[in-house]
Amino acid sequence: MRANPSPSWQHDPCPDWCVITHHENDLVEDRFHDATSVSVPVVLAGSSALEEVDNSDLFLALFRRVGSDDDWLHISAPEADHGGFTVSLTSARRLGDALSRLPGSGPPP
Ligand SMILES: [Zn+2]
Repeated sequence: MRANPSPSWQHDPCPDWCVITHHENDLVEDRFHDATSVSVPVVLAGSSALEEVDNSDLFLALFRRVGSDDDWLHISAPEADHGGFTVSLTSARRLGDALSRLPGSGPPP
């Protein structure tokens, strides 16, 4: 059981992975369940050519709007020119399956 009671606007319990303590005065636009984000070390190609590469991290953040059943994954890079995007968790799983089937894919080094 959580130490703090749920705010009056929260009608469903947090998913098991939510690490947020929700407060009564949270703004409507900020009412999300969030998981601890995960960083994955990657080599990013520059936008102009593959000669430009950068060791970096991608950040994966799982979230769900309070009151919804839909889970989303936001993938971002710290560099602005690489931006980020959000996909449904179902889509992310499809991407993972597709990546594992690419020619030459195998366990990470
Ligand atoms: Zn929550």
